[in-house]
Amino acid sequence: MQFQRVFESSNKPILIAGPCSAETERQVMNTAEELASLGGVDAFRAGIWKPRTRPGSFEGVGSEGLKWLSKVKAEFGFRTTTEIANQQQVHEALEAGVDILWIGARTTVNPFSVQEIADALRGSDVPVMVKNPINPDLELWIGALERLYNAGLSRIAAVHRGFSGQRKTEFRNIPIWEYPLELMLRFPELQIINDPSHICGNRTLLLSVAQKAMDLNFDGIMLETHIDPDNAWSDSRQQVIPMRWKEIINSLVLREENAADLSVKTDLEHLRKQIDELDFEVLQLLGERMKIADKIGSFKRAHNISIFQSERWAEILRQSVIQGDRLGLSTEFISALLTAVHQESINHQAKIMNKD
Ligand code: PEP
Ligand code: MN
Repeated sequence: MQFQRVFESSNKPILIAGPCSAETERQVMNTAEELASLGGVDAFRAGIWKPRTRPGSFEGVGSEGLKWLSKVKAEFGFRTTTEIANQQQVHEALEAGVDILWIGARTTVNPFSVQEIADALRGSDVPVMVKNPINPDLELWIGALERLYNAGLSRIAAVHRGFSGQRKTEFRNIPIWEYPLELMLRFPELQIINDPSHICGNRTLLLSVAQKAMDLNFDGIMLETHIDPDNAWSDSRQQVIPMRWKEIINSLVLREENAADLSVKTDLEHLRKQIDELDFEVLQLLGERMKIADKIGSFKRAHNISIFQSERWAEILRQSVIQGDRLGLSTEFISALLTAVHQESINHQAKIMNKD
């Protein structure tokens, strides 16, 4: 897939701001006015139709709000963007002249819905942003990009808004940074936006998440911005006033992808070389480790012992976590690494034991 840019502006980061939901004309216009006076906005967002977990909570003002978005565009010159989740909403949004559409996380999960939207968009060249699906499934996210692309759209961007998880964490939706990084690798032209608001679910972590996105070379930031966040009709805990939005944006440290200064470049090259050498050694060691696993496989086969011994595995993990901690390696990392190594080792042993 060969994507085109949704945002032309080359000055990073691309900034998308505006309320979670359009609530009243006054709320929309006042928020836009303040954002306009602060400057820097590339697109003004507002949800018109809101996908809510439970019925009965505020489900958006609906079609009426589209007029307010046109007004924002006319008065402040912002490109506007809203979420669409079905064919009817696509038609209404396009009719009202919304500049960029986005597919929400609860819609990206459903291939039928994404296909319906893609079919409704066939023949238009409106830009579309695709949020990651609620569940951590990179292929499903890519599948949605593909459905749009196959319908003839090419101005497509991706939005990382975090994933639902059972584990209680500091985040409302857990970011899985590997996924957008994988998208960057596979589709270098795809613009990728970070949405700290829905990742955090509160105001305190917004800056650190936005900074992380900048450090990972995301193209832009979508932040929910409301004139009176505490009284917002949806997502009140994570929205910020326009002034705070500007503070967050101004606090971001932007790093160059490639250093221009030669001495900086050389130092960096040097450090990278050291990393490459160590990685090579780690791989050599892993290869040797697996040869021993093969020997163990033969031994177990000869003596008819089962492959998996859970007490031994638990003990290895426990010891390694303690050792890792001394080396400044997190428990999560050690356990993910060892689980992968252990799995590979089991595969090696199983192959030997089941050889006839
Ligand atoms: C939103 O942007 O307001 C929204 C509903 O987002 P998500 O689809 O990421 O939950
Ligand atoms: Mn929201």
